Amino acid sequence: MFRSCFNNDLENASDFEADGCCNSVILFAKAANSSKLLFAWSLHLVSDTNQRDPTARGKIVNPHWIEKNVIRQWKRGCDRRNNKDCQMCPAASRLILTRPCWLIDTWRLCLTTGAVNAPYVALSYVWGEEPFFKTTRNDLPWHSQIQNMASIFANATVTIIAMQGANANYGLRGLRGISKPRNLVQDIFTLGEGSSITTTQQQNEDQNPWSQRGWTFQEQIFSRRQLVFSADRVQWKCACGNFLEDLMPPPASEVVSQSTQSRDHVFSTSIPNFNRYAELVRQYNDRQFTFPEDALAAFSGITTALSHTFYGGFICGLPALFLDMALVWQPDAKCQRRVPSKPSNPTKLGLPSWSWVGWKGKIDHNWSLGCRFEYMVSSRHESLSVPRTIPLVQWYSRSWENMELAAIKEPLELQELKKRGLKGIGSIPPGWRRFDYHGVAYEPEMPPARYVYKHDCDPTTEFWYPIPLCEGQHNPPRPRGTDTLLCCRTQRIWAFLSQKFSHSTREYTNSSIRNSKGTWIGELRLHDNKIPTKNLSQSHQGSESGDLCELIAISWGYFYEKWDWSVFQIDEWNHKERPRDSEKYEFYNVLWVEWQDGIAYRKACGRVMKSAWECQELEWVDLVLG
Ligand SMILES: [Zn+2]
Ligand SMILES: [Zn+2]
Repeated sequence: MFRSCFNNDLENASDFEADGCCNSVILFAKAANSSKLLFAWSLHLVSDTNQRDPTARGKIVNPHWIEKNVIRQWKRGCDRRNNKDCQMCPAASRLILTRPCWLIDTWRLCLTTGAVNAPYVALSYVWGEEPFFKTTRNDLPWHSQIQNMASIFANATVTIIAMQGANANYGLRGLRGISKPRNLVQDIFTLGEGSSITTTQQQNEDQNPWSQRGWTFQEQIFSRRQLVFSADRVQWKCACGNFLEDLMPPPASEVVSQSTQSRDHVFSTSIPNFNRYAELVRQYNDRQFTFPEDALAAFSGITTALSHTFYGGFICGLPALFLDMALVWQPDAKCQRRVPSKPSNPTKLGLPSWSWVGWKGKIDHNWSLGCRFEYMVSSRHESLSVPRTIPLVQWYSRSWENMELAAIKEPLELQELKKRGLKGIGSIPPGWRRFDYHGVAYEPEMPPARYVYKHDCDPTTEFWYPIPLCEGQHNPPRPRGTDTLLCCRTQRIWAFLSQKFSHSTREYTNSSIRNSKGTWIGELRLHDNKIPTKNLSQSHQGSESGDLCELIAISWGYFYEKWDWSVFQIDEWNHKERPRDSEKYEFYNVLWVEWQDGIAYRKACGRVMKSAWECQELEWVDLVLG
């Protein structure tokens, strides 16, 4: 019956699935040769004016104009339910609340001071390239406001999200007497006896310009109540639920709080969750900026909120406590150095090459693999098979202008707790308790663990060892916002890059690392798929193969050979020249760097076999990473 309607869309679809209950059904169309979802439609029985069937939820709406009262009803409904998470979203409770310096008075159509004690509405939209009325950055106290943007959205009573339209001139369509009409296409199928069915196509929100912009990411996360204009429709989103124009609201009894949204969980727990942090970075880092130097500020609400669980806070977007693990982030596809809008060194403007924030591109989510279950007791398989990243150096941070170094002590504090915790010796930090344990070993070479640990804030999670938490910590972490340089004393080698190769299923490119004899010693993952082509030898039989590169060691680690790591994108796992005659694959995490004016810049990150590294001519170096 619906096929005739969707003919154009359905050419490639062969498989249909339906899911739903009562008088609402979601119909999925899948591609013939894969499980890829092509389209999804919600089908709803239309509620007639007499409401003969209370389960009928479909609603016929005006194609051009939004019903006058619907928005007000949504807001009043939410106000009435008095849902705690609609007053303040969990993520925002960890920000210092600020108000905007300036507000737009929509009655008098002018700018007015924000220093009034009244609720305000925020607008999240895309500037675009079209000329449009705007204040310039010099007009307003921009810098302090830009750092607190998340808080300004969190404090708004409602955020209007203009998801549709490539620029600010598009406006919010469908408001009669105010804006241009919209063009809502609603399919209506008539059944017998005066009944009918409507459909709504599920919107893919990732496709619109708004979802590709950098600033909008935290604007959405921190907005507690959202009025979203997208695809010629308007909808209301809050912790009470999602309310659509073309759907009758569910009966009051069925409106349940959705406060435990997974996205927010990372902000409400007391245990740092590197995995969720990594997922946020992944969703964020290939977004676009008009001013690429904003990339750190537009994520700062997130790192500020997470600083309540990540002991030590963040340095240019990387968590201090897990700095060694965080530094080995890898691109998941081509990624390019962010170039500031004004001529300046990107690192100076908060875009260092050692952090993901200095690059635009998707980050590999296997990044968090080394941290995911490292400290948590999980299933046998997971706990044993966790890859390890072990600190090698003492890191210091400093700002571009000031030579003064500040030691980053958190990773060593963590190591100390780990050492004592695994042995079951020494005092236990406040809030932690030790329990006898008769399970597996922390890792294969160790005797079975005798203890596990729990923290008062989470009685269900078992830890191999206590980790530093922010609970009960009186001093907030030292702000490191302006520290864009990382320093340490470490060792370097010179090696050769050769044999660039790409994977059929992956969007990045690797390069093998070889010693002067041409022997394989490790692997790098390239950022922009480019390595210098000059001197790149086709065969590596000669004494020198490929391009000379400088590699510096930043940490070390290992994997157990008995698990298959190739699925986790350990690029060299199946490399035929990689020796695998021992139980462990041990390696140094290395950065390929290039120096400029006394500062080394990351060009790529990879691993060199530990045994091979130690056979090279090692040279001590005072590293300043920018
Ligand atoms: Zn609500
Ligand atoms: Zn993921």
